[in-house]
Amino acid sequence: MEKEKVTCLIIGSGPAGYTAAIYAGRANLSPVLYEGLQPGGQLTTTTEVENFPGYPDGVSGPVLMDDLRRQAERFGADLRYGIATASDLGATPYKITIDDEKEIETETLIIATGATAKYLGLEDEKTYAGMGVSACATCDGFFYKKKTVAVVGGGDTACEEAVYLAGLAAKVYLLVRKPALRASKIMQERLAKHPNIEVLYEHNAVGLYGEKGVEGVHLVRRMGEADEHRYDLPIDGFFLAIGHQPNSAIFKPYLETDETGYIHTEAGTPRTKLPGVFAAGDVADPHYRQAITAAASGCKAALEAERYLSSK
Ligand code: NDP
Repeated sequence: MEKEKVTCLIIGSGPAGYTAAIYAGRANLSPVLYEGLQPGGQLTTTTEVENFPGYPDGVSGPVLMDDLRRQAERFGADLRYGIATASDLGATPYKITIDDEKEIETETLIIATGATAKYLGLEDEKTYAGMGVSACATCDGFFYKKKTVAVVGGGDTACEEAVYLAGLAAKVYLLVRKPALRASKIMQERLAKHPNIEVLYEHNAVGLYGEKGVEGVHLVRRMGEADEHRYDLPIDGFFLAIGHQPNSAIFKPYLETDETGYIHTEAGTPRTKLPGVFAAGDVADPHYRQAITAAASGCKAALEAERYLSSK
């Protein structure tokens, strides 16, 4: 296997990874960053980002990520395509395998691998993958112009996806398992402005049907209760917006995580229990999960890496 030695390895290319690369680059750590499965991270699948400081008129997700990427490149970060497929953090230097074919030995490691959209776990989600099932409205909404779609979830993401789809589709059903939305007030207000969005509270999707693609969803209202009601709702597209799973699997043998997989870090810092290994952004953040908080923790991780190296 090909081998390479580096001083600072960053895995992930969301706001955390790129910000870490900007700071590590400016500190002359010659950072090497692997961009992972989705270069630019989750924000590349968002339309408008309205709450990132410095953009009073908002900015599109892909443009924001491209700006961060170019800023990292400007300070000499070595940005590469590739996915971290294995880790050996048992001793220093730490070892990360890229694409199962190259091993990077690094003195410091910044894990900024983010999180991935969750699915319900229905067999039908796999059956109809790419045939009507999606976890990204901004990626796939275009295919549902003037059609009928359902969005699962009751959080900010679900509302955002529903509002986005309402601009394209003829009708959007929001399937919420509880009697209330979890989303913030501002998102709920935006939802209410769209007459073609109908919220179906206390509804669970239990399956999908259709000949060549999704033609409908099997629904259960008030599941498990005496007045439980099962029925089928014709739809053309089924969108998941039920939260995310942190991408920490390859590090789990060496680092502590919570039960979902979020990496434990020392309070207020990106320090993990291993010296020189830092976790930044959504992979370590079950609470805030914002671009700006991810960027801030990426900054902290690079500063910590610099301090760790100079203390050695
Ligand atoms: P959340 O965890 O906030 O919400 C997930 C939603 O999915 C909840 O309504 C939950 O239901 C539902 N859900 C989870 N599992 C299932 C299941 N198996 N079946 C049915 N429903 C399920 O995730 P989000 O992705 O919405 O948001 C994550 C974070 O990102 C939040 O902090 C949010 O505020 C933020 N965000 C902010 C935005 C903005 O400000 N513009 C945009 C998007 C996200 P239940 O309520 O019953 O648990």
